[in-house]
Amino acid sequence: APILEVKNLRKHFQLKDNRTLKAVDGLNFSINRGETFGLVGESGCGKSTAGRTIIRLYEASEGQVIFNGKDVGKLKGDDRLKFNREMQMVFQDPYASLNPRMTVGKIIAEGIDIHKLYTGKKRTDRVHQLLHAVGLNEEHAGRFPHEFSGGQRQRIGIARALAIEPQFIIADEPISALDVSVQAQVVNLFKNLQREHGLTYLFIAHDLAMIKHISDRIGVMYLGKLVEVAAASTLNAKP
Ligand code: ADP
Ligand code: ADP
Repeated sequence: APILEVKNLRKHFQLKDNRTLKAVDGLNFSINRGETFGLVGESGCGKSTAGRTIIRLYEASEGQVIFNGKDVGKLKGDDRLKFNREMQMVFQDPYASLNPRMTVGKIIAEGIDIHKLYTGKKRTDRVHQLLHAVGLNEEHAGRFPHEFSGGQRQRIGIARALAIEPQFIIADEPISALDVSVQAQVVNLFKNLQREHGLTYLFIAHDLAMIKHISDRIGVMYLGKLVEVAAASTLNAKP
């Protein structure tokens, strides 16, 4: 069975002038365990909204998200907490999602604490290990988000997501904000995690060229709908 099934998913926004914006307008697709699925489409077609609705940052207007066989809209208590751990999102603008008053070490450790994974030296070691995994180091743990570049902040966001050992990661523009020299490093990290821990990815990008070579399949979105799903190798980037 697929790890994720998205069925007739809709997310409509009520605008101030009483119009309804159908940002996600009936999505249907599934992702297999260990697969990398790229969701592409021009700016404003609903990709980020789809990602946020899948992970339940937004409540769906209609439809279902089935994760590991369970309807995530109906999860309660421990199941809900487990889902919060198993699915993680890495944001396009991590600055908006990194608490400016928390040190990077604290930001990365927060999930470890919430889910009671490690304490004491093990917790510190784990934070340092994660910093190294994304090309930073332990000296960075005591600093604050504004002291880092955009690419570094994105890597902090990745370390935070990995800290709680998720099964599934949704990454919005996972590499486009990174320096070219770091892109390969982050791609390798994602691929290693997939090989060693069976992670599954939903990568969101406006640019097909950017994620074509790291995705197994690509879904093309247009005006809130999927207009094509195909093996990445069969799609060609627009000239
Ligand atoms: P993409 O990620 O493909 O660039 P988005 O999902 O960010 O697209 O946006 C899809 C549409 O939904 C856009 O028209 C955007 O303006 C609108 N939108 C996104 N978030 C909100 C929101 N919170 N409230 C109202 N409209 C939104
Ligand atoms: P390393 O080779 O240094 O262990 P990897 O690239 O394999 O690094 O992994 C990066 C980090 O993610 C490591 O700290 C690894 O322990 C951690 N990690 C371990 N299990 C998982 C998991 N299930 N999901 C995500 N990250 C994990």
